[in-house]
Amino acid sequence: MTDTHEGGCVCGAVRYVTKGDPLRVSLCHCTWCQRRTGTAFGTEAVFAAENIAFTGTAPSVYRHISDLSGRWLDQFFCPRCGSNLGLTLEAVPGIRSIAAGTFDDPTWLNATGVPFRHIFMRSDHGWADVPESMEQYEMHFRK
Ligand SMILES: [Zn+2]
Ligand SMILES: [Zn+2]
Repeated sequence: MTDTHEGGCVCGAVRYVTKGDPLRVSLCHCTWCQRRTGTAFGTEAVFAAENIAFTGTAPSVYRHISDLSGRWLDQFFCPRCGSNLGLTLEAVPGIRSIAAGTFDDPTWLNATGVPFRHIFMRSDHGWADVPESMEQYEMHFRK
C-alpha cells in the first residue's frame, strides 16, 4: 500500500491514514481560518471522505456556522493537545480535509499533479507571501 499516508496531532493521541492523492489543496485566507489556525491561512488537503480513516483517540469536533453562507463547518482537533486536524463542510458533502501540516512525511504533498488553490485572498495578510504562479481567488473557487 504505497499510496497511503499517515499523520496525526503533536501529542500522538489522534492518528489518521489517507488513501491516494488529495483531490485538491485549499489554502484559505479567510478570517475564520486565520483565527481557527492562529496563523495566516488554513492549508487543507481535501480527500473523498472514505479515503480518510482516524485511528487512536477520536478527534473532538467544534461546529461553526458560517456568517457568510449560514452553513455549518465542523473542525476536528485533538482533545488532548488541541492540534487542528481538518474540516468537514455542509456545503461540500462527501469530502473531508486534513490539515496539511499534520502528515508524518511533510515532503509527499506537493504542487505537482494536485491543484493548490489560494482562496479568500481578499483577506490575505501582506506578510504571508503567495507566489504569483499559484492559483488565487478573491473568495472561493466554486461559483
Ligand atoms: Zn494530540
Ligand atoms: Zn477559510
